Amino acid sequence: MGLPSEFACVTPNFWLTFAEHALPYFRKKRYIRLMPELPEVESFARALNASYRGRTLKRVLFRRRDLRTALDIDTLGKIFAPGVRFVRFFRDGKQLVIRTSAGEALISLGMSGAFAPVDPKRPKPHEHITFILSGGEAFGFIDPRRFGHVRVRTAPLPHLADPLSARSLIRLFLSPEWRESRRSVKAALLDQHMIGGLGNIYVLESLYGAKIRPTRRVSRIRKSEWGTLSREIPMVLRRAIKAGGSTIATYRGLHREIGTFQLCHRVYGRAGKRCLRPGCSGVIKRITQSGRGSFYCPKCQQ
Ligand SMILES: [Zn+2]
Repeated sequence: MGLPSEFACVTPNFWLTFAEHALPYFRKKRYIRLMPELPEVESFARALNASYRGRTLKRVLFRRRDLRTALDIDTLGKIFAPGVRFVRFFRDGKQLVIRTSAGEALISLGMSGAFAPVDPKRPKPHEHITFILSGGEAFGFIDPRRFGHVRVRTAPLPHLADPLSARSLIRLFLSPEWRESRRSVKAALLDQHMIGGLGNIYVLESLYGAKIRPTRRVSRIRKSEWGTLSREIPMVLRRAIKAGGSTIATYRGLHREIGTFQLCHRVYGRAGKRCLRPGCSGVIKRITQSGRGSFYCPKCQQ
């Protein structure tokens, strides 16, 4: 890929994810929390749209009645009734929406949720929901850890800005209620009521790109820095979506597990390593903010 070898490139792996959560001491250095984030959700939405938008559903199979919580199968059964059409698949924050001609379902991928083309007669391991299309093709919702959930969507999620839109971000960043906040910039960016679906990794990568230290107070950040950050966030996310998109293409439209994403970070997970910014001699530092790891370069991030 032409990236410097010091990049922290990680191939997400289900068992590494499991180990990291089951055994917190692994968190120290070697394992990085990997779960579906906005780029993965966006990639699934695009792949599902490309493959199944406009298609008619023949039948849905709920292979179990609960995931993280109980499924409202009566109502979901109406949204996915035989004969409904898939109108659109899209992302709302970090969740995926399936809009059919009968309603909308909101799907959270949790820790390990994914969509894949399936054979309805031979369910894959951990395939909990199977959507069979007229014509016989099918796709399934697969979730080994069952932290995902599927529920009826009655209204859009409440958030003010979409992280893929620089324009909506700068509008939020320059609003008085945002700028007067005494919180750290990292805490503010992770506030899901403000920005829909920005996770820890992408916040830290964007702050690195914009040369802003994650601990800085929102009220101390200059207007020009907000401008840089509003462009940096969509750029970082698009890069990840592109990586996911190329993976998806090799998996016939959809991919099976988050284990197929190759994530390359400039700062995340690189504690103790040299800063990658040309001309900077800083060493990446790891600190804890509100119980979660933060990484930054003390030299070039002010
Ligand atoms: Zn640096």
